[in-house]
Amino acid sequence: MYFTYNKLFLIMGKLFVISAPSGTGKTSLIQAILEDMVASNTYLGISCTTRKARPKEEDGVSYFFISQMSFMEKVKNNDFLEYAEVYGNFYGTPKDWVLSVLSKKENVLLELDIQGALQVKKAFPEAKTVFIIPPSYEDLTRRLETRDQDSKTEMAKRLKEARNEVNIGKDFDQVIVNDDFDAALEDLKQFMFTSEGVTNERSEIIKNSLDLLLD
Ligand code: 5GP
Repeated sequence: MYFTYNKLFLIMGKLFVISAPSGTGKTSLIQAILEDMVASNTYLGISCTTRKARPKEEDGVSYFFISQMSFMEKVKNNDFLEYAEVYGNFYGTPKDWVLSVLSKKENVLLELDIQGALQVKKAFPEAKTVFIIPPSYEDLTRRLETRDQDSKTEMAKRLKEARNEVNIGKDFDQVIVNDDFDAALEDLKQFMFTSEGVTNERSEIIKNSLDLLLD
């Protein structure tokens, strides 16, 4: 059951939700934007997850790593703004934190899977949703191979899932193509922090890439 926080937006900061198929470079783009001056008033949400921490991931920095039992307790207590099961693990966004940052007129950026992004948009219609796409599926395959984080079966699963995600993400408020890191970063900045948005030239490139992926 959802209720909308629409009216609260008159007095609140902005809520951005960024989603992308696995391997699209979403995390690097988010890190870069958060380091930019334009984002000095924007904070990245830290989610709770039941996934095990990867090497170099710190509790309370990348995620709050919690047990499945604690996670379900939080679900029961309605502590999450949204939550979803992604590739066998649960992820949830702490609601109180998001609302307290927004109420200070500061912006929140959430990095969520596609189901989470849809849930947030439903609860907060004013949230700005961004979907990042690769320039092609060949490029995405190469990136997944390069990062060498997943088994062959896992990679095939992620590629198949990417196609489903693109079908949903194409309707987000803004699609960004990560064909070139700097250009994609600029597009993201334009969308998030200017009223003009992405340039016509880049919009055309984004449209062509999206058509290619949907073909
Ligand atoms: P990873 O385990 O690789 O860090 O993340 C897997 C996926 O879960 C990514 O698509 C990431 O954006 C998403 N994710 C991270 N935190 C949350 C969350 O709180 N809610 C939802 N719905 N997805 C999340």
